[in-house]
Amino acid sequence: MTATTYTVIGTTDEQDTCDCCGKRRLKMVVALRTDDGDVVKFGRSCAARATGWGPGNLGRKVAEADAELRRARYTVHNFGPFAAGHPGALEMFRRRNPNTLNCRTDAEIIAWSAAVVAKAQARLAAAGADAGTWEQGLQEINTRTGRYETADHWPL
Ligand SMILES: [Zn+2]
Repeated sequence: MTATTYTVIGTTDEQDTCDCCGKRRLKMVVALRTDDGDVVKFGRSCAARATGWGPGNLGRKVAEADAELRRARYTVHNFGPFAAGHPGALEMFRRRNPNTLNCRTDAEIIAWSAAVVAKAQARLAAAGADAGTWEQGLQEINTRTGRYETADHWPL
């Protein structure tokens, strides 16, 4: 029998029990993918032991995976309006990227943004995560950073 190799998907809120030992009410559950493509959800101790990484390496890999998922979500929310060809978004895109004023058509900007969004969505889907809609995401980003100015400038 060969040992299973695991990759980290990230932390999950879907359950607070460990699939390995059955321990309940865990503060953190880590989703791991086996080399067969199965997904298991283990508490930190069981995950560190099953993978052979130890607590330190596991913690580092989990932090990296979670950061990657956050970036993918942000990409879906940030580029969604461009990919959707939202008129206000295209105007903003050109204002932020003056080099596109004369040499990029709307269709080119939309296609490029759609490809960026599709890649981020594929990453999220592989992790069993959902970015939600860009309209919701944009509201979240706006609330947090004020980046998208007011609703007048950004009619959703
Ligand atoms: Zn366990």
